Amino acid sequence: MELNAEQQFKDIQNNLATVRQRIVDACKKAGRDPASVRLLPVTKTVPAERLRIAYAAGCHEMGENKIQEAREKSEVLSDLNIKWAVIGHLQTNKAKYLARFANEFQALDSLKVAEELDKRLQNEGRAIDVYVQVNSSGEASKFGLPPEEVCAFVQKLPSYSSLRIKGLMTLAIFSSDHDRVRECFVKMREIQAMLRQEAPAGLSFDELSMGMSGDYELAIEEGATVVRVGQAIFGKRPLPDSHYWPGMG
Ligand SMILES: *Cc1c(COP(=O)(O)O)cnc(C)c1O
Repeated sequence: MELNAEQQFKDIQNNLATVRQRIVDACKKAGRDPASVRLLPVTKTVPAERLRIAYAAGCHEMGENKIQEAREKSEVLSDLNIKWAVIGHLQTNKAKYLARFANEFQALDSLKVAEELDKRLQNEGRAIDVYVQVNSSGEASKFGLPPEEVCAFVQKLPSYSSLRIKGLMTLAIFSSDHDRVRECFVKMREIQAMLRQEAPAGLSFDELSMGMSGDYELAIEEGATVVRVGQAIFGKRPLPDSHYWPGMG
């Protein structure tokens, strides 16, 4: 490895170790088993060559929020055994791409997308894990179902047999006020509890994907089982979040 690549490898390895340790500490504080929280590294904007290094450093799952970027990287890195998670809004006409390479889709928020994705997956002879995205902050800029619509929405999902419904996903409010962030996570836990009573048989809502670089410890305290962490592993992105989340800010 050239020096630069070696340095990148060490940085990623160190950052991963730090995040993992903080996950363990947050679990201890909350009286939870650290094995109950999965770290999903978020790789958006990180170039494919760097992801090769990240893979060597221990990132075997990668989360991307844009289908085009995810698709390109999955092709360039197809020699590695990476599990790809699409964690951003999907347009119906892009479902066919996702169906080819993704192992997981965490941003389901419409029946049109569910139907198209299911159809495309059946064509491919595949099934994937799916999370329903909820807009827990109520911000107009965020995707996801309003909390009050989630129950009716999930009643329709058993028709899509290639979607293995696993749980819920959310982005909390972007705020330095911890109480407001926590409120979003608490709301998710309440919706999860409600679904355990009300959801149709065969769907599972055990997974709660919530928490990012700035708030994953808080999310773990409130029951997250998947945390999606990008910048704390790969460093700050060059442009503000408003650039990477279409429709935000
Ligand atoms: C970018 C992104 C993350 C990770 O954010 P970081 O601040 O880099 O940790 C998590 N979830 C989604 C949906 C994202 O787009």
